[in-house]
Amino acid sequence: MIKLHDKYFKPFISAEEIQEAIARMAQEVKADFKDEVPVFIGVLNGAFMFTSDFLKAYDGPCEVSFVKLSSYRGLSSTGIVETLLDVPEGVSGRSVVILEDVIDSGATVKELVSMFSEINVKKFKIAGLFYKPDTYKGEYNIDYVGMKISDKFIVGYGLDYDELGRNLPDVYQLNDKPMINLVLFGKPGAGKGTQANFLKEKYDLKHISTGDVFRFNIKNGTELGVLAKSYIDKGELVPDEVTINMLKAEVENNPEANGFIFDGFPRTQAQAKALDELMKSKQMEISGTIALEAKDEVLIERLLERGKVSGRSDDQDEEKIKNRFQEYNEKTAPVMDFYAEQNKLHKVDGIGKIDEITGRLSRVIDALCKQEKV
Ligand code: AMP
Repeated sequence: MIKLHDKYFKPFISAEEIQEAIARMAQEVKADFKDEVPVFIGVLNGAFMFTSDFLKAYDGPCEVSFVKLSSYRGLSSTGIVETLLDVPEGVSGRSVVILEDVIDSGATVKELVSMFSEINVKKFKIAGLFYKPDTYKGEYNIDYVGMKISDKFIVGYGLDYDELGRNLPDVYQLNDKPMINLVLFGKPGAGKGTQANFLKEKYDLKHISTGDVFRFNIKNGTELGVLAKSYIDKGELVPDEVTINMLKAEVENNPEANGFIFDGFPRTQAQAKALDELMKSKQMEISGTIALEAKDEVLIERLLERGKVSGRSDDQDEEKIKNRFQEYNEKTAPVMDFYAEQNKLHKVDGIGKIDEITGRLSRVIDALCKQEKV
């Protein structure tokens, strides 16, 4: 996810896919202009990257020029097209191929057709890198299409949102849902994992449980797993540096996520600081944290029951469980204060039926969603 001005955008079309589409278009155009020297006309500003890459992919003699039109203001087309740079001189009698980055409502296409109809060109064709068939209302049939896309606001690869984003090599689409990043606190057995599984579906969030990632690594015998096992088996915390690097990698592997539920992280002040920095570096932030509360006696009972089914050795031994509680009280409880000071800590009663607890959590999250700007 990236942020431009006030909006978030998520990856949509990769640089490789764009280059493949351009290579195909260049071949199609070449087949139609074998014995000619076409003049390619890029529509500024958006098509500057497309024009450049298209020409590099075009295997034949050709010329290049530009017109400059403008119709976008912010997120939607105004429909009014201004001509800022007119038809270049010397194109009369020549074969012209317009290179347009995105074919949207058709207002720009209409203007281009009208501009060039006044000049006596030999052939007139339009190549659109991205074409929105559901939005296009024009009469002109686009001659060459790179990719058909649905009606999404896109940026990158020359396209902008109020001038930002043109330099991105990939194309991103507007993320129109509010972005929510949650931290779930709670002692072992509080139900973080169970609740996160419901919440991730309900709010379309990516659930990252550091405990699960460690267990996955242990199962697969990775270097990280071997290292983590020695700590987990004793009910101690894995060192911060290891855990922080692992979490960063998990976040970075999910650039399309609409937000995250961090479950079991941060557990120390250093981790909380690292999480804040990570969020800041991605122009994201923690929307809120929720502490699931329950008494130790209830939790011990739950964990011993879970240990019988899951086989987790750290759940089967009361001493190890107590050690995990102690780690929580000493290291994790102060982290909650860190969020409380920012007015980002919400306490929820973790005793009751699973769906009742999901309901309590949802009320907190719904309120957070309302606070977030779309
Ligand atoms: P959990 O499944 O969250 O109860 O985690 C199981 C064990 O994994 C913990 O007792 C720790 O040994 C280790 N672990 C999980 N998350 C972290 C973390 N954020 N920092 C350090 N150790 C962790």
